[in-house]
Formats: sequence, structure tokens, C-alpha cells
Amino acid sequence: MNAYPPILSSLIRKLSSLPGLGEKSATRIAMYLLKAPGGEAESLAENIRQLRDNIRSCSICFHFTDEPVCAICGDPARNIGEVCVVETTADLLAIEQSGAFKGRYHVLQGVLAPLDGVGPEQIRIKELFSRLGSEKISEIIIATNPSSEGEATAHYLLQILKDSPVRITRIAYGIPMGGDLKYTDRITLERALKGRQAF
Ligand SMILES: [Zn+2]
Repeated sequence: MNAYPPILSSLIRKLSSLPGLGEKSATRIAMYLLKAPGGEAESLAENIRQLRDNIRSCSICFHFTDEPVCAICGDPARNIGEVCVVETTADLLAIEQSGAFKGRYHVLQGVLAPLDGVGPEQIRIKELFSRLGSEKISEIIIATNPSSEGEATAHYLLQILKDSPVRITRIAYGIPMGGDLKYTDRITLERALKGRQAF
């Protein structure tokens, strides 16, 4: 990489530090930007600058927005009684794309990971708690991921919320569509059986 002018190698280094980009792709993108027509590189740079200046967390649910309140929280058609707790905005968007949920969300912006120094204070747990006092919430659906951190976070939430009058539920786990029982891991099968429902 030393053969490149310093500005170019600096850009390649920065691009390759982005998630999902290796040095090869970073070099390809840098070369493309160098020759990109019609102000494309300038407009990308401007877009990144605007992103940092204008995108913030929704003051209610902590989803990303360029307004004080996000489009979901501001939508009067959403069911304000149901709040789905997710780890990240990416998880929120995945649930939104399913079209299966019409309530509102609470984005924790992380999961409990004591070994990495992430405790309850580092994620948006107290904000969830204060929503219980200010909104007419009847059900909290915990949709953290089925990872060890996601599970630990779900159990922590259950502990601190169990004395509140709201109904606390956890999303079900089971066999994925197109899956095969004989190739399904033991824990997933166990959960699928425990979470069985009447037809
Ligand atoms: Zn919101």
C-alpha cells in the first residue's frame, strides 16, 4: 500500500476499517471514488457529513431519526400499548419489514455484556422504565437475540419489570421455515417444544 500517495492510502485504510470491508474492497472503492464522475464522491462525502449532523436517536424509542420523534412513534395508527424491546435499529427494521408488529419499539442500543464493560447503565434500560410511567403501555415484548448476551438482557429485564402491572412476553423461538428437525440444534428444539401453541 506504500506505493500509493499518502491521501489515497489513508482513505484505503479508513475504508478497510469499516465493517464488512477488507483491504481489497476498500482499494476498489477508493479507486472508484478517485475517478467517479459527476461529483459522486463529493456528494457521498456531503451525505456522510449530513448523517453525523442530522441523524439522532428518537426521544421516545431511540430508533434513528432526523426529527425529534421517529416516524414510528409519531404514527397515530400504531398501537401505543405494545412496546417491542430490541437490541439495535437493525433488529427494529427487520421486524418492521416482516409487517407483523403494529406497536411501538424500544431500542436498547446494545445488550448487557459485563465482560465488555456493558452494564444496565450503558444501554437504554432506565429510559424503558421511565416510559412505563409516562405511556399507557400494556405489554412489553422482549425481542433481544437468542445469544447469551441477548438472553441475559432478557432475563435482567424480566427481573426488573416483573413487579410492574404490564404483561411481559418474550418472542418465541422455533424451527425456521424450510428447516429440518433432524438438523436443528438441541436448544432450538427444546425452545420450540416449550413454546408450542394450540392449532
Ligand atoms: Zn421512536
